[in-house]
Parts: sequence; C-alpha cells; structure tokens
Amino acid sequence: MAVKIFIDQGHNPGSINGGAAANGLEEATINYQVGIYLMNFLQNDTRFAVMSSRVSSTQVLGTNSATSLQERVAMANTWRADYFISIHCNANANPLIRGSEVYVYQIPSTAAMLARAVLDAITSEIAIPDNQVRANPNLLVLRATAMPAILVELGYLTNSEDAALLRTKQFQFAYAIYQGILHYLNLP
Ligand SMILES: [Zn+2]
Repeated sequence: MAVKIFIDQGHNPGSINGGAAANGLEEATINYQVGIYLMNFLQNDTRFAVMSSRVSSTQVLGTNSATSLQERVAMANTWRADYFISIHCNANANPLIRGSEVYVYQIPSTAAMLARAVLDAITSEIAIPDNQVRANPNLLVLRATAMPAILVELGYLTNSEDAALLRTKQFQFAYAIYQGILHYLNLP
C-alpha cells in the first residue's frame, strides 16, 4: 500500500487567505511551486500516493480564511491521507530573523518525529538556520487533521538571505522535504 501524502500549499493568490509578501516575493506563489515540485518527487516514487490542496497557481480555496483552511483539512481527511504537509513561508517585523522551522500540534508526537526528519533534511540541503520543531496547538490544519500533520515554514520572506534562498532554491526545498519523508519512513 502506498503511503498517502497530502500536500497543502499554504494560502491563496489574492486577498482571500492571502499569504505574506516581502522582498518582491509572494508567499502563496512560493508555497504553490515548492508543493508542485514535492508532488512530482512523490508521484515518481511508486511507494507514495499524493494529493495537493491547490491544483493550479490561480486556484482559490474557500471564501475567507476560515473556510480556506477548512477546505484543505476536509480534503485530506476525506482522502484519508496518512500524512499532511503544509508548506509556508514566514514573515517577521524584524528583518534579521531568519531560518526554517516546522510546526506540529504537540511534542512529542508522530508528527514531531516527521517534522524533525524534514527539518534535518532541509538544513543539510540548504544553508539556512535550524529554528527547531515547535508546537502550535492553535493552527487549524494541525488541530483538525485526522492524521499526523506538519506545517513547514521554509524561511523568512522578510530576511534578505532567506528571501534569496526562497527565490532560487525552491526545487531544493522540495527535494529536502521528500528526503525527510523518506528518512522518517526508513525508506532507502
Ligand atoms: Zn503562511
């Protein structure tokens, strides 16, 4: 049986559940493209079945932030995904703050072990600081999903070094998430 991975490309283009923007980059666009790269890796690996929340770069899920998030969760729950991976980029008022971090509902958990493997893979593939796995019980996509769920904040759009990585290393970020999944599942 293939392992079912649900990829949620965070946010939408436009203002409904729109993402962050800084340094000439829009979060929803980066999330979408990294998700497509990740989906391609998983689709080319027969050990996996994969579904993504957004199937085109212009697609808008939901009619407000709440329903946008609910739709993503409902898709994954209805599909009975084994793992839920939400892809995001971070932002902060302080432009010096940078790095990758991965959120889970609680620590310790199955999700936290997957999150640690993904973060290890990202920080070995890309020269970006490791901001550790963090618990956030308030995020709907982590709280309402019926399967282990992680939310990957690839890096900070508001930091110039991270922004350069987010602009040029989208394929490598996706490859690293794929490698992290393989390591977590002990797959060669
Ligand atoms: Zn986001």
